[in-house]
Amino acid sequence: MSRFWSDVVKGLTPYVPGEQPKLANLVKLNTNENPYGPSPRALEAIRAATDDSLKLYPDPNADLLKRAIAAGHGVDAGNVFVGNGSDEVLAHAFLGLLRHRLPILFPDITYSFYPVYCGLYQVDYETIPLLEDFSIRAADYAKPNGGIILPNPNAPTGRLLPLSEIEALLQANTDSVVVIDEAYVDFGGESAIPLIARHANLLVVQTLSKSRSLAGLRVGFAVGHIELIEALERVKNSFNSYPLDRLAIAGAVAAMEDHDWFERTRKAVITTREKLVADLASLGFEIVPSAANFVFARHPRRDAAETAQALRERSVIVRHFKMPRIDQYLRITVGTDEQCAALIAALKEIAG
Ligand SMILES: *Cc1c(COP(=O)(O)O)cnc(C)c1O
Repeated sequence: MSRFWSDVVKGLTPYVPGEQPKLANLVKLNTNENPYGPSPRALEAIRAATDDSLKLYPDPNADLLKRAIAAGHGVDAGNVFVGNGSDEVLAHAFLGLLRHRLPILFPDITYSFYPVYCGLYQVDYETIPLLEDFSIRAADYAKPNGGIILPNPNAPTGRLLPLSEIEALLQANTDSVVVIDEAYVDFGGESAIPLIARHANLLVVQTLSKSRSLAGLRVGFAVGHIELIEALERVKNSFNSYPLDRLAIAGAVAAMEDHDWFERTRKAVITTREKLVADLASLGFEIVPSAANFVFARHPRRDAAETAQALRERSVIVRHFKMPRIDQYLRITVGTDEQCAALIAALKEIAG
């Protein structure tokens, strides 16, 4: 704490990202990265863009990318906003669309960045408890609110809310914005993007970090009614006009256009997830049904923090949250078959 800090900064509780250890030979299953790497066509496009043109500013509107995203999702480019990772897109949504008189609503167990943005932008919030099995009940959100935000599938549980429930949420909340954070939707969910045609209060946020394996490039986007997009553009152009650099735009366009790579790698993750679930179950773990590229699991007789530590001693890193209701769970990213086999072998060794 310094006397030079503003009151806002004094009051912040910043987000703590999963660690990125610099060690070699780690089985890194802690931050939901995609083990298959980006589309080779994306890498080639980034290489091709690495030339003298970097002296020039990028297109502030990233029109090429907006068009590629719009084409991929059957919407108009005017329905698309792009940002420096979906975290930035979400941040702009908190300031531009969720900051009202009434508190916003989100689940008690969810992406831990949401309360951080509330702190930064001074947005009041109320958390709605997940049911005992970690599912979301849309009816619990039927109360006056300044907006609703939730990930689908939810993080860190991996549980999916059916589109019919999202539609119910939208119908019950026509006076506020509903943000659906679809960071993991490509691993087993159905996107709510087609609903934007009928619901002017729906903003769908996605990222290229997980299913397109481009976490290091920092590209995310939102799809919604043109008036919602305009709010995000107004915030963006009051903050940083060039959130996407030339390399990010080139790589993201190529990644969005490489359907084969996308389909092949996301299906591989889903297949490995199902095997991982079966293997964990055979070791006595209880696993929350997952539609994501991670599983959320607990062992009825083994302490989660101790297991995470024992795994770490065997060079396997998973995520443990020291938080109410979930402190006996481990969030395990779906790696390659080999990485998951190494995890299972380490768990067997720990069990003795
Ligand atoms: C990973 C993740 C994001 C952030 O993704 P970036 O695009 O890398 O900023 C957003 N929401 C949820 C729920 C996530 O898990």
